[in-house]
Amino acid sequence: MNRRQKQKILNVITSVVMFLTVGILLSVVYTKYLEAQAKELLETELTFPSASEEAREMLAAAIAEEEEAQEPEENLPDDWNLILVNYSHTIPEDFEVELKSIGNGHQVDARIYDDFQAMLKAARKDGAYIYVISSYRDMDKQIDLHSNKIEEYIREGYAYAEAKRLAAQVVAVPGTSEHHLGLALDLVSSEYRGLDERQETTKGFKWLEENCAEYGFILRYPNGKTDITGIIYEPWHFRYVGKEAAQEIMEKGITFEEYLGVTSHQEDLS
Ligand SMILES: [Zn+2]
Repeated sequence: MNRRQKQKILNVITSVVMFLTVGILLSVVYTKYLEAQAKELLETELTFPSASEEAREMLAAAIAEEEEAQEPEENLPDDWNLILVNYSHTIPEDFEVELKSIGNGHQVDARIYDDFQAMLKAARKDGAYIYVISSYRDMDKQIDLHSNKIEEYIREGYAYAEAKRLAAQVVAVPGTSEHHLGLALDLVSSEYRGLDERQETTKGFKWLEENCAEYGFILRYPNGKTDITGIIYEPWHFRYVGKEAAQEIMEKGITFEEYLGVTSHQEDLS
């Protein structure tokens, strides 16, 4: 073996040693990397339940916030004459009223008796003869009226859900009718006694529209306000709210809901 051959062998050995060293180093580094990855994964899994709980809490908070936004805090007045009853404000279960007869089997809240009689008297003086078609109704009467209306729509060919939705706009769902309060009256004029839109052409209606606020009454379901009141235009349904509120409502041409700053939600009815 000459010197040149020795040098060649040495070079080969050096190369092999270097190659092995680099290989070992790389494998050590790679193992460390894998360990670190595994540890990270393990930690993620260990902390996952608390992260999920946090997410749940955030979701619950978001839902509560949304619900609050949908149903804003309502500060409704306590006054007996300003009680709101509509689709989304049912009559309180403990509601009681002292009724007084206005003749022909009709009754109203005794507290509105004088204003009501004064209104009819003033109308007569001006040549408008007004008749009562409906006044205080107990719950049984409303249940009958409402279910009859649903049946009517079903006979016309509507599916039950649609019949129920339509009926609610015409005859209030039991518990949501102002007639339970003894504060609402369906009034017609002597020359036309139908409960339909033609009633607005009568002398009685025109007189009431002009003067009812003076006696504490409002036209409760005005034309074009169904999306607010949840009830069709009813140029016969008048509601007692007291003189102050009535004058503001009728002067501004607003609904009772707008006066109170609320609405009647009917969209969830099905
Ligand atoms: Zn009515």
